[in-house]
Amino acid sequence: MTSVNSIFGSMVFGDDVMKERLPKETYVALQQTIKSGAALDISIANVVASAMKEWAIGKGATHYTHWFQPMTGITAEKHDSFIAPAEGGKAIMEFSGKTLVKGEPDASSFPSGGLRATFEARGYTAWDPTSYAFVKDGCLYIPTAFCSYGGQALDKKTPLLRSMEAINRQALRVLRLFGNTEAQAVRTTVGPEQEYFLIDKAMYDRRRDLIYTGRTLFGARAPKGQEMEDHYFGAIKPRVKAFMQELDEELWKVGVLAKTEHNEVAPAQHELAPIFTTTNIACDHNQLTMELLKNVAARHGMVCLLHEKPFDGVNGSGKHNNWSISTDTGVNLLEPGDTPADNAQFLLFLTAVIKAVDEYQDLLRISVASAGNDHRLGANEAPPAIVSMFLGDELDGVLTAIEKGAAYDGTKRGSLAIGADVLPKLPKDSTDRNRTSPFAFTGNKFEFRMLGSSESIACANIMLNTAVAEALSCFADELEGAKDFSVALNKLIRREISAHRRIIFNGNGYNDEWVAEAERRGLLNLRTTPDCLTHYMDPKNVRLFEKHGVFTEQEMAARHDIILENYSKTLLIEARTMVDMATRDYLPAVTAYAGKLAADVNAIMALGVNVEDKKALIARLCELSSLAYADLDVLSAAISRVEAISDVTERAFIAKDALLPAMQTLRSHIDSLEVITSREAWGVPGYGDMLFSVR
Ligand code: ADP
Ligand code: MG
Repeated sequence: MTSVNSIFGSMVFGDDVMKERLPKETYVALQQTIKSGAALDISIANVVASAMKEWAIGKGATHYTHWFQPMTGITAEKHDSFIAPAEGGKAIMEFSGKTLVKGEPDASSFPSGGLRATFEARGYTAWDPTSYAFVKDGCLYIPTAFCSYGGQALDKKTPLLRSMEAINRQALRVLRLFGNTEAQAVRTTVGPEQEYFLIDKAMYDRRRDLIYTGRTLFGARAPKGQEMEDHYFGAIKPRVKAFMQELDEELWKVGVLAKTEHNEVAPAQHELAPIFTTTNIACDHNQLTMELLKNVAARHGMVCLLHEKPFDGVNGSGKHNNWSISTDTGVNLLEPGDTPADNAQFLLFLTAVIKAVDEYQDLLRISVASAGNDHRLGANEAPPAIVSMFLGDELDGVLTAIEKGAAYDGTKRGSLAIGADVLPKLPKDSTDRNRTSPFAFTGNKFEFRMLGSSESIACANIMLNTAVAEALSCFADELEGAKDFSVALNKLIRREISAHRRIIFNGNGYNDEWVAEAERRGLLNLRTTPDCLTHYMDPKNVRLFEKHGVFTEQEMAARHDIILENYSKTLLIEARTMVDMATRDYLPAVTAYAGKLAADVNAIMALGVNVEDKKALIARLCELSSLAYADLDVLSAAISRVEAISDVTERAFIAKDALLPAMQTLRSHIDSLEVITSREAWGVPGYGDMLFSVR
């Protein structure tokens, strides 16, 4: 393998390249624009565009694309070539500042939730200069935000950038209160750990459910599943190893800091963790990672499944969003400090996160809601649908002491006066023991574990950033007006911890007792996407986003509708796929198998041998088939019913209540048939084939 140094970022138009290729004034002007967030002067843009084009052509690019993240959750691109006609029937390679800064994709088919009337259907893309451009597959990728001409966000990146700006503004106010005049910007940082499955392409190609929906809709459990836990951190199989190596190289080339790759608990399940970076870049990089996972797998004769629950009865896949807040001077604001003053600041930021998670638990749950993720969060699997926070015993002890105004560790201390005492050392490992918590403090960052493996991390971070911005804003309002800062700070932290203690839970989140306890505490338990979405437009949420300039009410309404539409569509496609597979694959296979058995029975009977057991098997096959045919009628009727509803909310609820149970019943009968039908007659690869297909 080539050295990491020589390939890392080799296809990125990053800082080094800019320094080298841009005239000094242009470089400085660009950096200033990036810092201030102001619009880029066209004369600067022209110089940057020209340098970028020359560099990209040198890297083999012939095309460029404004790469954006529409509300579908995936990325979109339209490739244009650099080519422009020149005199004498010749062509030149052209790329202007205007084309760099602003693009107009013909993107009228992307969901807009009614934000875009068809007469102005095109919208435009705007360069996000904080996320570097890169070359991939002969194309220059320019990370952009996608807006309507009215300025409404049509993508996931615009509100993400707005939420980062919101938390920047409020965190700076708080830092100034602590006498910090150095920091000019505060950024949230994210390191998303990505889980996925790898299966053999030959198996995948024979599973219509995987092809159409990304998950298996049928399939009896294999004799062996994950019970031995022999896969977790186990030796990586050669074929997977080769895949991971190539994946790392591809990611490094485009500047993604892929760091750790290991096997997960379920057979065929793996995880990739990058080194954290600024949130909008982490989001771009995670999208790139998901894309490259798929592309590289294909080159190795495998398919990468990013669905949250590809296999029933086997662990699903999620994404752990490691999140923190840092200053531009490199200080992690969630790092407990060594001095009393640092710790007072740490405790205030910590309290802000606690308040935010409690007050906006609905938004955090909504941010990860999808038909796929419902199979993890709503079911008996990690983590539960109830949002709670884990702080670890030490930190919890500190907060309890503050709340009670009592000594933290017995005799040594008097009351724990914030800003006067040093925090006890928090052993790092003690904070990360609880793997069942959806939102865990892990030493100097929080790990939000509810995200689905296929989802963009943008939504979760938009909600988190904005909710914490709001808490910080309330704190700053109160403390800026205080006569005695220390006294006011103590009072505030104490009051807020008491008010939001209910969100802190250090026990086992998979326990049934927790569900009851959470209900007593008044915490929300939103099991499904439609349940979640009924809270989205709550006045407190609209107020939050409008106050911080992250979403207008109209933009929220659009997103609300898109999420629900997406949910219903997903369920409908799954239901139709089940009807198709049962009707055209499984049930004909069973009939043929029963017919063959019947012929065999006749032949055997002629020999005078007892055939009662075989007749019983035929009867059972026929009985289960009849049940499945009846299930198909029920499911088809449910499909028609859902299709006829136009209201998005009603449609989603009916899809959940009518389709899901009918799908489950059909599946149970088909799965029962699978285990009594010969492998050969069944014809479709089963769970064992798929889960143990990559060797
Ligand atoms: P593990 O969870 O395996 O113990 P770490 O806790 O070191 O590993 O890191 C997990 C993820 O958290 C990595 O992607 C890492 O880059 C990220 N991470 C570490 N520090 C921060 C931070 N300050 N902000 C955001 N993410 C972070
Ligand atoms: Mg971790």
